[in-house]
Amino acid sequence: MKKIIPILFVFIFGIWFVINNPFTEENYNTNGQPNHEQVYQGDLLLVNHDFPVKEKYILKDLVNALQTNTNNYYTVLYNNTLISEHIKAPFEALMEQAYYDGISTFLVSSSFRSFEEQKKLYNEYGSESALPAGYSEHNLGLSLDIGSTQGRMEDTFEGQWLAENVWHYGFIMRYPENKTHITKIKYEPWHIRYVGLPHSVLIRENDFALEEYIEFLKEEQIIHTSVNGQDYIIKYYDSEQFSEDLLPKNQTYTISGDNQSGIIVTIEN
Ligand SMILES: [Zn+2]
Repeated sequence: MKKIIPILFVFIFGIWFVINNPFTEENYNTNGQPNHEQVYQGDLLLVNHDFPVKEKYILKDLVNALQTNTNNYYTVLYNNTLISEHIKAPFEALMEQAYYDGISTFLVSSSFRSFEEQKKLYNEYGSESALPAGYSEHNLGLSLDIGSTQGRMEDTFEGQWLAENVWHYGFIMRYPENKTHITKIKYEPWHIRYVGLPHSVLIRENDFALEEYIEFLKEEQIIHTSVNGQDYIIKYYDSEQFSEDLLPKNQTYTISGDNQSGIIVTIEN
């Protein structure tokens, strides 16, 4: 009986440990620092070779881009072209503006990709043309590849128009020609990424890559800006210092992690 008690204790502790494993990734990052879940969610996540998407936080609010294209302002190449529901309105507004500017020849060729689809692409096309699962922005549901039915984006008016206009609608050109040394991705005049206002405008005005913009926010910590007559305050917090008490009580705001260790709160002022 005396022997059974310690065995029983080890057994019960073992079961408790398996259920409540305190050393899982959710509670601690690789440096042993506690994480805040918000770090891995939101429109400002930096996804690149160093910071992959965490599959657990992939957006669940995906809608078919075909259903948003009721006016046929553009063409969608595949039936199952998914985007996050909250970027549907700004994307529609962007395409509507293009239509009124005389362009109805945009061709959406890619949008959200699951880890499974990304894995398939990587295995099929290799590291020259595709990224491993989690390392592509397409795993976020906030990026789209938009081509032209008239030719290569770098040669067409559509390409020029997109690069001039995406910023006003919360989107950025994620892989510009002059930032390949930072993004480590070749020039992609077709790949747009949603980050929201006023961030897209600030990125454009300062000629930042998203990598540089996140660094800029980290250094500045508080930024006051105004876009389209709307004043904004942007606050950057290290996740260690962040708590829900710091969120504004009576103002509209959005919140996003940077996929590293920071949390960015954007307040309409
Ligand atoms: Zn792309």
